[in-house]
Amino acid sequence: MRILYVEDEKLLADAVSHLLKKQGISVDWTDDGEEGLRLAKKPVYDCIVLDIMLPKMSGLEILEIVRKQGIKTPIIMLSALSEIEDKIRGLELGADDYLAKPFKTTELIARLNALNRRPPIRDRKILKYADLKFDIEDRTVNGVSLTEKEAEILKMLIEAGDKTVQKDYILGHVWGAEMLAEDNYVEVYISYLRKKLASVSKKVKIKTVRGLGYKLCEEK
Ligand code: CA
Repeated sequence: MRILYVEDEKLLADAVSHLLKKQGISVDWTDDGEEGLRLAKKPVYDCIVLDIMLPKMSGLEILEIVRKQGIKTPIIMLSALSEIEDKIRGLELGADDYLAKPFKTTELIARLNALNRRPPIRDRKILKYADLKFDIEDRTVNGVSLTEKEAEILKMLIEAGDKTVQKDYILGHVWGAEMLAEDNYVEVYISYLRKKLASVSKKVKIKTVRGLGYKLCEEK
Protein backbone atom coordinates (compact mmCIF):
# COMPACT_ATOMS: atom_id res chain seq x y z
CA MET A 1 0.00 0.00 0.00
CA ARG A 2 1.25 3.48 -0.83
CA ILE A 3 -0.21 6.56 0.83
CA LEU A 4 0.13 10.32 0.61
CA TYR A 5 0.36 11.94 4.03
CA VAL A 6 -0.19 15.71 4.23
CA GLU A 7 0.70 16.97 7.70
CA ASP A 8 2.56 20.10 8.81
CA GLU A 9 3.53 18.95 12.30
CA LYS A 10 6.91 17.46 11.52
CA LEU A 11 7.45 15.48 14.74
CA LEU A 12 4.03 13.87 14.51
CA ALA A 13 4.50 13.14 10.80
CA ASP A 14 7.90 11.52 11.44
CA ALA A 15 6.52 9.31 14.21
CA VAL A 16 3.44 8.22 12.23
CA SER A 17 5.42 7.66 9.00
CA HIS A 18 7.94 5.54 10.86
CA LEU A 19 5.21 3.29 12.29
CA LEU A 20 3.39 3.01 8.96
CA LYS A 21 6.61 2.03 7.19
CA LYS A 22 7.19 -0.68 9.78
CA GLN A 23 3.84 -2.13 8.66
CA GLY A 24 5.02 -2.17 5.05
CA ILE A 25 3.07 0.93 4.03
CA SER A 26 5.00 3.34 1.76
CA VAL A 27 4.51 6.95 2.79
CA ASP A 28 5.00 10.09 0.70
CA TRP A 29 4.93 12.95 3.16
CA THR A 30 4.53 16.66 2.57
CA ASP A 31 3.95 19.49 5.05
CA ASP A 32 2.50 21.90 2.53
CA GLY A 33 -1.10 22.21 1.29
CA GLU A 34 -0.28 23.21 -2.30
CA GLU A 35 2.23 20.42 -2.71
CA GLY A 36 -0.31 18.07 -1.12
CA LEU A 37 -2.85 19.02 -3.79
CA ARG A 38 -0.34 18.53 -6.60
CA LEU A 39 0.55 15.05 -5.32
CA ALA A 40 -3.07 14.10 -4.52
CA LYS A 41 -3.90 14.29 -8.25
CA LYS A 42 -1.44 11.51 -9.05
CA PRO A 43 -3.14 8.14 -9.56
CA VAL A 44 -0.52 6.27 -7.55
CA TYR A 45 -1.90 6.34 -4.03
CA ASP A 46 -4.10 3.77 -2.31
CA CYS A 47 -5.12 6.37 0.23
CA ILE A 48 -4.56 10.03 1.14
CA VAL A 49 -4.31 11.07 4.79
CA LEU A 50 -5.08 14.75 5.01
CA ASP A 51 -4.63 17.09 7.96
CA ILE A 52 -7.14 19.97 7.97
CA MET A 53 -5.04 22.85 9.30
CA LEU A 54 -2.19 23.28 6.83
CA PRO A 55 -0.11 26.17 5.50
CA LYS A 56 -1.19 27.74 2.15
CA MET A 57 -4.24 25.54 1.59
CA SER A 58 -6.43 23.66 4.07
CA GLY A 59 -7.12 19.95 3.95
CA LEU A 60 -10.79 20.66 3.29
CA GLU A 61 -9.90 22.79 0.24
CA ILE A 62 -7.66 20.03 -1.11
CA LEU A 63 -10.42 17.48 -0.54
CA GLU A 64 -12.98 19.63 -2.34
CA ILE A 65 -10.79 20.23 -5.40
CA VAL A 66 -9.72 16.60 -5.66
CA ARG A 67 -13.30 15.30 -5.52
CA LYS A 68 -14.55 17.94 -7.99
CA GLN A 69 -11.96 16.66 -10.43
CA GLY A 70 -13.43 13.17 -10.09
CA ILE A 71 -10.45 11.68 -8.27
CA LYS A 72 -11.74 8.77 -6.19
CA THR A 73 -8.68 7.90 -4.09
CA PRO A 74 -9.91 7.13 -0.55
CA ILE A 75 -9.24 10.03 1.84
CA ILE A 76 -8.98 10.04 5.63
CA MET A 77 -9.20 13.50 7.22
CA LEU A 78 -7.27 14.38 10.38
CA SER A 79 -8.11 17.27 12.65
CA ALA A 80 -6.76 18.65 15.87
CA LEU A 81 -10.12 20.21 16.53
CA SER A 82 -12.39 17.32 17.29
CA GLU A 83 -15.17 19.60 16.21
CA ILE A 84 -18.18 17.93 14.74
CA GLU A 85 -18.48 20.59 11.99
CA ASP A 86 -15.11 19.60 10.54
CA LYS A 87 -16.13 16.00 10.45
CA ILE A 88 -19.48 16.72 8.79
CA ARG A 89 -17.93 19.12 6.29
CA GLY A 90 -15.24 16.57 5.40
CA LEU A 91 -17.72 13.76 4.87
CA GLU A 92 -19.99 16.06 2.83
CA LEU A 93 -17.08 16.94 0.58
CA GLY A 94 -16.40 13.27 -0.06
CA ALA A 95 -13.93 12.13 2.60
CA ASP A 96 -14.14 8.41 3.35
CA ASP A 97 -13.18 8.56 7.00
CA TYR A 98 -12.20 10.96 9.78
CA LEU A 99 -9.78 10.66 12.65
CA ALA A 100 -9.57 13.16 15.52
CA LYS A 101 -6.15 14.09 16.89
CA PRO A 102 -4.59 12.78 18.98
CA PHE A 103 -5.01 9.32 17.48
CA LYS A 104 -3.16 6.03 17.84
CA THR A 105 -1.22 4.99 14.76
CA THR A 106 -2.67 1.48 15.12
CA GLU A 107 -6.12 3.06 14.66
CA LEU A 108 -4.96 4.83 11.49
CA ILE A 109 -3.50 1.57 10.16
CA ALA A 110 -6.76 -0.28 10.88
CA ARG A 111 -8.73 2.35 8.93
CA LEU A 112 -6.26 2.32 6.03
CA ASN A 113 -6.62 -1.44 5.81
CA ALA A 114 -10.41 -1.21 5.96
CA LEU A 115 -10.53 1.34 3.13
CA ASN A 116 -8.12 -0.71 1.07
CA ARG A 117 -10.30 -3.78 1.28
CA ARG A 118 -13.20 -1.87 -0.27
CA PRO A 119 -13.29 -2.42 -4.00
CA PRO A 120 -12.50 0.86 -5.75
CA ILE A 121 -15.45 2.24 -7.68
CA ARG A 122 -13.54 2.39 -10.94
CA ASP A 123 -13.18 -1.42 -10.86
CA ARG A 124 -16.89 -2.00 -10.51
CA LYS A 125 -18.02 -5.21 -12.06
CA ILE A 126 -19.81 -4.94 -15.38
CA LEU A 127 -20.98 -8.06 -17.21
CA LYS A 128 -21.42 -7.71 -20.96
CA TYR A 129 -23.41 -9.60 -23.55
CA ALA A 130 -23.81 -8.15 -27.05
CA ASP A 131 -25.01 -4.58 -26.43
CA LEU A 132 -26.03 -5.27 -22.81
CA LYS A 133 -24.01 -3.84 -19.96
CA PHE A 134 -25.09 -5.22 -16.62
CA ASP A 135 -23.79 -3.41 -13.54
CA ILE A 136 -23.87 -5.98 -10.74
CA GLU A 137 -23.45 -3.47 -7.91
CA ASP A 138 -26.06 -0.99 -9.16
CA ARG A 139 -28.32 -3.77 -10.40
CA THR A 140 -28.93 -1.95 -13.67
CA VAL A 141 -28.84 -3.13 -17.25
CA ASN A 142 -28.07 -0.35 -19.73
CA GLY A 143 -29.22 2.05 -17.02
CA VAL A 144 -32.55 0.34 -16.24
CA SER A 145 -33.01 -0.94 -12.67
CA LEU A 146 -33.69 -4.58 -12.01
CA THR A 147 -35.20 -6.21 -8.93
CA GLU A 148 -32.96 -8.50 -6.92
CA LYS A 149 -34.37 -11.66 -8.46
CA GLU A 150 -34.34 -10.31 -12.02
CA ALA A 151 -30.71 -9.34 -11.50
CA GLU A 152 -29.76 -12.80 -10.23
CA ILE A 153 -31.41 -14.45 -13.23
CA LEU A 154 -29.78 -12.09 -15.72
CA LYS A 155 -26.39 -12.69 -14.12
CA MET A 156 -26.78 -16.46 -14.60
CA LEU A 157 -27.86 -16.04 -18.21
CA ILE A 158 -24.97 -13.71 -19.09
CA GLU A 159 -22.43 -15.90 -17.32
CA ALA A 160 -23.72 -18.93 -19.21
CA GLY A 161 -23.00 -17.15 -22.51
CA ASP A 162 -24.62 -19.16 -25.30
CA LYS A 163 -25.36 -22.16 -23.09
CA THR A 164 -28.80 -22.97 -21.74
CA VAL A 165 -29.47 -22.36 -18.06
CA GLN A 166 -31.82 -25.01 -16.74
CA LYS A 167 -35.05 -23.85 -15.22
CA ASP A 168 -34.51 -26.05 -12.13
CA TYR A 169 -31.10 -24.50 -11.68
CA ILE A 170 -32.56 -20.98 -11.73
CA LEU A 171 -35.31 -21.98 -9.33
CA GLY A 172 -32.86 -23.60 -6.90
CA HIS A 173 -30.42 -20.68 -6.96
CA VAL A 174 -32.80 -17.75 -6.89
CA TRP A 175 -35.57 -19.09 -4.67
CA GLY A 176 -33.80 -21.95 -2.92
CA ALA A 177 -35.79 -24.67 -1.20
CA GLU A 178 -38.67 -22.30 -0.39
CA MET A 179 -40.45 -22.81 -3.71
CA LEU A 180 -39.63 -26.37 -4.73
CA ALA A 181 -42.01 -27.33 -7.53
CA GLU A 182 -43.56 -23.90 -8.05
CA ASP A 183 -41.56 -23.40 -11.18
CA ASN A 184 -43.86 -20.88 -12.81
CA TYR A 185 -42.04 -18.27 -10.67
CA VAL A 186 -39.18 -18.64 -13.10
CA GLU A 187 -41.48 -18.08 -16.07
CA VAL A 188 -43.01 -15.00 -14.46
CA TYR A 189 -39.63 -13.45 -13.74
CA ILE A 190 -38.31 -14.35 -17.19
CA SER A 191 -41.27 -12.45 -18.65
CA TYR A 192 -40.44 -9.39 -16.48
CA LEU A 193 -36.85 -9.60 -17.58
CA ARG A 194 -37.84 -9.93 -21.26
CA LYS A 195 -39.83 -6.71 -21.03
CA LYS A 196 -36.94 -4.84 -19.46
CA LEU A 197 -34.43 -6.17 -21.97
CA ALA A 198 -36.76 -5.23 -24.84
CA SER A 199 -36.74 -1.65 -23.56
CA VAL A 200 -32.94 -1.39 -23.62
CA SER A 201 -31.80 -3.65 -26.45
CA LYS A 202 -33.09 -4.45 -29.92
CA LYS A 203 -30.70 -7.36 -30.29
CA VAL A 204 -30.76 -9.48 -27.16
CA LYS A 205 -33.60 -11.87 -26.49
CA ILE A 206 -34.18 -14.57 -23.91
CA LYS A 207 -34.90 -17.75 -25.79
CA THR A 208 -36.95 -20.56 -24.27
CA VAL A 209 -35.35 -23.96 -24.76
CA ARG A 210 -38.37 -26.19 -24.52
CA GLY A 211 -38.37 -28.63 -21.62
CA LEU A 212 -34.99 -27.41 -20.47
CA GLY A 213 -34.59 -23.75 -19.64
CA TYR A 214 -33.49 -20.42 -21.06
CA LYS A 215 -30.57 -18.82 -22.83
CA LEU A 216 -29.62 -15.47 -24.21
CA CYS A 217 -29.34 -15.01 -27.93
CA GLU A 218 -28.27 -12.12 -30.08
CA GLU A 219 -30.25 -11.31 -33.19
CA LYS A 220 -27.98 -10.03 -35.91
CA1 CA B 1 -1.90 20.95 11.06
